[in-house]
Amino acid sequence: MTSAVMPTYARFDLEFDRGEGCYLYTVDGRRFLDFTSGIAVNALGHAHPHLVKTLQEQAGKLWHVSNLYRIPDQERLAERLVAHSFADYAFFCNSGAEALECGIKMARKHFYDKGQTEKYRVICADGSFHGRTLATISAGGSAKVKKGFDPLVDAFDHVPFGNMNELRNAITPQTAAILVEPIQGEGGIQVGQLDYLRALRETADEFGILLHYDEVQCGIGRTGKLFAYEWAGKAAPDIISLAKGLGGGFPVGACLATADAASGMTAGAHGTTFGGNPLAMATANAVLDVVLGDGFLDHVDRTARALWNQLTDLQKRYPTVIEQVRGAGLMLGLKCVVDSGKFISTMMDNQMLAVGAADNVVRLLPPLIMGEAEAEQAMAALEATCKTLAAEA
Ligand code: PLP
Repeated sequence: MTSAVMPTYARFDLEFDRGEGCYLYTVDGRRFLDFTSGIAVNALGHAHPHLVKTLQEQAGKLWHVSNLYRIPDQERLAERLVAHSFADYAFFCNSGAEALECGIKMARKHFYDKGQTEKYRVICADGSFHGRTLATISAGGSAKVKKGFDPLVDAFDHVPFGNMNELRNAITPQTAAILVEPIQGEGGIQVGQLDYLRALRETADEFGILLHYDEVQCGIGRTGKLFAYEWAGKAAPDIISLAKGLGGGFPVGACLATADAASGMTAGAHGTTFGGNPLAMATANAVLDVVLGDGFLDHVDRTARALWNQLTDLQKRYPTVIEQVRGAGLMLGLKCVVDSGKFISTMMDNQMLAVGAADNVVRLLPPLIMGEAEAEQAMAALEATCKTLAAEA
């Protein structure tokens, strides 16, 4: 296959030209159950009527004006995110990596403005993934994405995910912030225990440093609450980075923060040409209309618990194929005994899509709108997949 597209992705030879709900249709008419959701992006599935209508209406009115002017939908989205979180402010950008960059810069500026210029380093977790910019690969905990890009940004110290002793030992007078994914996605669906999140909060307070969560993948309803950190009670961060599900497929990222954390983010401190434009803001508001609508998050929670039970039952019946079920809400992982790539291609033979992650894990990231019919079909495809692979094992 030759293509003028830069070959930075190992793509499957599949072309889709239509999506509807939890299904994607190929150009040659095949239908796939989509448990990838564009890697946790299509939270409301494909072609959700409310998103389509909103985007079409907005497209006929106004696309882009820049942040030189007030953008009413941006103000509305910020107010809604703030009203439903710990935060006082929201900054809008276009991707997860940018949402991380904003948080990383914010922590530095916070201490710089207080005259504590020595505080600029961030403690991050092994196995984490925060994006592909130079700062975010430096913050990330996987060697694979860093290779060939030295010198990296020397501002990040890594400790094992979930280990408070090592984290506390790594804090120095130069530490400005702790940056953690409450649930690591690319790292293999590693769930941060609720005690761990609470200990992060307490430790950040004890040392007077900022707590920055990366909820790019696990946020916006994926765990059955708007934000994953909410499950832990008193564990709210000072800064949170969001993207993926927030736009439901339209590129949008956000960085929320308390007024104190954002105290240095004055006019001119940070910016973006495209971030927060009327198209993105209308769409993200439409996503929130649904996600914050009556009973939606309860539906996610109920669906997720039922799916969890069925997956753990499947694991018990096919221990030579699946070692463990991991995750929270509709952010689930099957730690495989067999090769996870082989698992995914066998699933595709059974008309179901999922995405791999580190640690030989298959990630199941269905649209949050999935119901019983999709769960039933997913379990049938997974059963067929396990049967084939168990026979080969
Ligand atoms: N943070 C997390 C937890 C992610 O999962 C990702 C992307 O997978 C990112 C950051 C980077 O987001 P983006 O690819 O939109 O820059």
